Amino acid sequence: PIVLGIESTCDETAAAIVQGRTLRSNVVASSMNEHARYGGVIPEIASRAHAEAFVPVVEQALADAGLELADVDAIAVSAGPGLAGCLAVGVSGAKALAYAANKPLYGINHVIGHIAVTQLQFGPFPDDTMALIVSGGHTSLLHVRDVARHVDVVGTTLDDAAGECFDKVARLLGFPYPGGPHIDRHARQGDPHAIRVPQGLTQGKAAVRHPYDFSFSGVKTAVARWIEEQQASGRDVPVDDVCASLADSVATVLARKAIRGCLANGSDTLIVGGGFSANSQLRGKLLEVGADHGVQVRIPKIGLCTDNGAMVAMLGVNLVEAGVKPSSPDFPIDSAMPMSKIVME
Ligand code: ATP
Ligand code: MG
Ligand code: FE
Repeated sequence: PIVLGIESTCDETAAAIVQGRTLRSNVVASSMNEHARYGGVIPEIASRAHAEAFVPVVEQALADAGLELADVDAIAVSAGPGLAGCLAVGVSGAKALAYAANKPLYGINHVIGHIAVTQLQFGPFPDDTMALIVSGGHTSLLHVRDVARHVDVVGTTLDDAAGECFDKVARLLGFPYPGGPHIDRHARQGDPHAIRVPQGLTQGKAAVRHPYDFSFSGVKTAVARWIEEQQASGRDVPVDDVCASLADSVATVLARKAIRGCLANGSDTLIVGGGFSANSQLRGKLLEVGADHGVQVRIPKIGLCTDNGAMVAMLGVNLVEAGVKPSSPDFPIDSAMPMSKIVME
């Protein structure tokens, strides 16, 4: 099947066409630069940018694929989770297109899209695979029984997401939003063992009670306190070392828990997705720990990790192939869509 996928959960307006497992076009417009000076995404600015970009982005995706709307078999759009005002633009636009062209429409879960997209690079999923989703808003370990029908949450962050934790420390260090990529770059030149960064839920009773859960809220406080002490005693802050220690700690916890989850579940494959999986320290650690334990780690190229339309279209193809019923014409957005829900009814 040929599916048009539309994405507008946060600051990317994106559209893509997937045919089977082939990516025929992939267009992303971002309002990221408009938010940089505020230190975070401003929902009203993002919504307006979606409204302006929606039609040109969809037209470009169709044109790049050499198709017209009449040629697609279905349309898929992210219905959640995300910023309500942003979701509303993408979903109402998609409903209008689906109505005008008389196409089935799927309101899909954006986070499950981050898992589905890996098929474009690595092919179909093995049965019973595990998935680690790491992004600005999510950090979760999932058991993927069938990406079109059944996904179980095995573990999740009890507080901040990994990307959020990086963005907070980045702000402390004076990097512009989003700070994750800046930390990544500095970390490559630093000493990962220079300072101690707490590894939440990895020791004692907490580790036993939460074997696959994460906690990153203590990290920012610990790093902030360490920087204050340095400054109070008149020492320079070694930015590269701070970044390297932070990245090493977060990547180690994520990799160990995810691979342990695979072993406990008997899965020999780990799917990785979400914007934070662009992080080079995490990519390195996952491949290393995975190789040590015989788990194949599937991390897509960076352009498929961050938000895009291909992830939405790919999940749409899975839904069409599985014969899942399209969403009702008046399905609502769900800004807090749970990961157990793959498509709106
Ligand atoms: P969600 O998918 O949970 O709705 P989101 O869409 O905001 O959240 P993504 O766009 O998937 O998230 O990811 C953005 C996050 O990824 C930001 O926190 C950003 O700092 C982080 N990020 C991107 N590249 C890197 C990198 N190289 N190293 C660390 N973090 C990164
Ligand atoms: Mg984004
Ligand atoms: Fe995302």
